[in-house]
Amino acid sequence: SHPLWEYPVLVTGGTGLVGRAIESVVNANKEEFDCYSFVFIGSKDADLSDETQTRALFQRVRPNYVIHLAALVGGLFSNLNNNLQFLRKNLSINDNVLLMSHEMNVKKCISCLSTCIFPDKTSYPIDESMIHLGPPHDSNFGYSYAKRMIDVLNKAYHNYNCNDSTGAHKTVFTSVIPTNVFGSYDNFNVDHSHVIPGLIAKAYKAVTEAKQKGAKNAKLVVFGSGEPKRQFIYSIDLAKLIIWVLKSYEEIDPIILSVGEEDEISIREAAQEVVNAFTDDHMKLELEFDRNYSDGQFKKTANNGKLRKYLPDFEFTPIHVGIKETSYEEIDPIILSV
Ligand code: GDP
Repeated sequence: SHPLWEYPVLVTGGTGLVGRAIESVVNANKEEFDCYSFVFIGSKDADLSDETQTRALFQRVRPNYVIHLAALVGGLFSNLNNNLQFLRKNLSINDNVLLMSHEMNVKKCISCLSTCIFPDKTSYPIDESMIHLGPPHDSNFGYSYAKRMIDVLNKAYHNYNCNDSTGAHKTVFTSVIPTNVFGSYDNFNVDHSHVIPGLIAKAYKAVTEAKQKGAKNAKLVVFGSGEPKRQFIYSIDLAKLIIWVLKSYEEIDPIILSVGEEDEISIREAAQEVVNAFTDDHMKLELEFDRNYSDGQFKKTANNGKLRKYLPDFEFTPIHVGIKETSYEEIDPIILSV
């Protein structure tokens, strides 16, 4: 149990890419966070798609705040094959977490959405007002509709609370929308990963195999044409921004957490950054594009103007620094078994 002066913060999905980044930021700034006690939970601690288990977890932690990161997630290629599963799992997880946050009078619940849930046919850049303005891309419609429902639930809980004359529920249920996240503790399994960890894993494997053969060059195979564009955010930057939301953001409506439109890059450029990280005097890594693989959405340019109004001076980590800081050694066994 917690001392009275501490506010318990429950972080679901706490053992994943973003959860671990929040943990690093909290641990690196202990004095700043001494009135909060963070509880990071992963899928092994509770099945959040099960209401009984979710209630038991909330009764144990008794959170004042919730950062809800848990979701069934995957890159383009795992979404393509599993829309029904992504829809149903995520709908139940989100419904349970928000219901328990409501029942236990959580002060603020921050859920994590994604830019891939926006309408497929839309004008660019996309902003927070456009989430529901048309169907999402067909490749990940299950995940997208489940995520969109979080925003709907946040509004519905807000309406419900406003009509509750007892004032029992003074809560902010809100959401954040990061663009493509990368960093340590990502999923580095190339069959299920997003692009940056996938490229890091493939580069690492190619370089390791080349060295074993005594070769001085290796190939990095990039899926698709390399033409699609993305905005990448380093997990540590995202963690800092989510903590700012926890402390200071009071809107129900979502906020995009992203680098600016000017920092959008092509997959080819992202792959080149990975190549640079692995190239030295002893090893040359070359790009090869496998166009048998799908490109997915061509772009999903997001406008971070709302964030910039609140935090005009926030400095994002440049992508080459983020890739350099990303730790992947521990995933050795996974990669070498691919
Ligand atoms: P998305 O942003 O939701 O589409 O997710 P991804 O990170 O999975 O894919 C982004 C883009 O990177 C797509 O155009 C993919 O075709 C391309 N890509 C290139 N190489 C890879 C790879 O090794 N893994 C993944 N997941 N995508 C890759």
